[in-house]
Amino acid sequence: MADFSRGEGRLFIDGEFRAAHSASTYSNLNPATEEVIGQVADADAEDMHEAIAAARRAFDETDWSTNHAFRQRCLAQLQEGLEREKEHLRLQTVQEVGSPLQLTYAVQGDSVIRDLGWVVDLVGRYAWERDLPVHEFFGMKSRRRIYREAVGVVGCITPWNFPLQVNLAKVGPALAAGNTVVLKPAPDTPWNATFIAKVVAEHTDIPRGVFNVVTSADPARVGEALTADPRVDMISFTGSTAVGKRIMASGAETVKRVFLELGGKSANVVLDDADFERVLPFCSMTCIHGGQGCAIATRLLLPRSRYEEGLAILETAFRNVKYGDPMNPQNIQGPQINRRQQERVLGYIEQGVREGAKLVVGGKRPPELEKGFYVEPTLFRDVDNQMTIAQEEIFGPVLVVIPFDDDDDAVRIANDSIYGLSGSVSSASEERALAVARRMRTGTIGVNGGMWFAPDSPFGGYKQSGIGREMGVEGFEEYLETKTIGLPA
Ligand code: NAD
Repeated sequence: MADFSRGEGRLFIDGEFRAAHSASTYSNLNPATEEVIGQVADADAEDMHEAIAAARRAFDETDWSTNHAFRQRCLAQLQEGLEREKEHLRLQTVQEVGSPLQLTYAVQGDSVIRDLGWVVDLVGRYAWERDLPVHEFFGMKSRRRIYREAVGVVGCITPWNFPLQVNLAKVGPALAAGNTVVLKPAPDTPWNATFIAKVVAEHTDIPRGVFNVVTSADPARVGEALTADPRVDMISFTGSTAVGKRIMASGAETVKRVFLELGGKSANVVLDDADFERVLPFCSMTCIHGGQGCAIATRLLLPRSRYEEGLAILETAFRNVKYGDPMNPQNIQGPQINRRQQERVLGYIEQGVREGAKLVVGGKRPPELEKGFYVEPTLFRDVDNQMTIAQEEIFGPVLVVIPFDDDDDAVRIANDSIYGLSGSVSSASEERALAVARRMRTGTIGVNGGMWFAPDSPFGGYKQSGIGREMGVEGFEEYLETKTIGLPA
């Protein structure tokens, strides 16, 4: 029996846990303490080739892709197993991801496990085939039947910020649709993926080879072995836009289906009739999990006529952000994932100052925290949308406040970005807020505090924020092929 209280450091290939061929390992670090919490298999291309071969065999030689009822039962077992082991996962997530403990009761843990139930249920009610009416072509009358079938072997490549959410938002629907999977997690969060493998091995009847996990310290080495392999039919990727472009290029040679969830620089538009006292304190949520969320609204657009009034409220909110030890249930912000990210965020802050933006709160490594990759909650004013800190994804606890003149100007600034992942609009008039939201070129928007995130909501980006949608029926169908068969009428 697997010990769920400890992080699993081995690869999971063809139904078995094993070391990397080379026997190499790398250290898994706790970003809050900088301590090594375990050793993890450091796979190479040979290990990846074996995982792909196992997934290919499981797809080609078993009835996994066609036996919907069996799959549904296996996925229900996966959900139940995760539910049973979730207290072990909670602690690991805080240690490995540096996630605030309170988030593990929501989108870093419990709610993600609960939401897996939606796709398990969908397997049972999805219309896997449908008939089209009789049609005459070349004097021949025909019926047509449409079948939805699995794509094949899916390579899932995931980031470190919300590992359980992203891993399950891919693995759940990919398996539910009848595919087999090779999951390559981010080097910083290997345990989250191997935890899922342990649950698959111990709690489910999922056949060997259907689900595989390959961890490595060198993403390019195993990642490119996955994205270029002709036996892989699809890559489902969440991560930065820069890597997304490389994955598209690498998959082009074998015309892979590529599904991309990429970066964001989302705008929160607060119109001049909004209730500032109600709306603006929430903007400090930019700092949640160190701002390491792709859909966080990191550009705040405030009307020029009420700019000073808004900034006074924001300053108070940012000074009151609870941050530090992620085990402290009060804290909404823990550390950045690693030193490189911490330095990257601090580098952006310096660049913002150099380009003329003014720091209102924060901007440094917190002097009171000796260990850990922390950055202070940071608020910038007098930001022009052309500045680097308004255009590039910082992925840190940094909010930039940009003034606008009227609704048209707000829409223009919001859309002046290579990204289009999310956003929000607030106004005393829902009609006015909705009109602005409809003009914003972005995949998800909250109006007047409405939350769009749910297992049945399609999530994804316009422009360079991605291709395709995750979650919802749209997300499930990313993992399906369409076959049309003609039959005589
Ligand atoms: P990243 O792009 O550096 O890495 C993402 C994954 O790709 C990791 O598993 C990494 O090991 C792998 N990878 C890196 N180079 C590769 C290559 N050449 N071939 C194959 N795989 C490769 O991103 P990150 O730093 O892990 O995560 C942060 C980024 O993810 C941010 O840009 C954030 O916006 C984005 N993100 C997007 C969403 C979304 O749904 N749109 C969700 C979470 C995070």
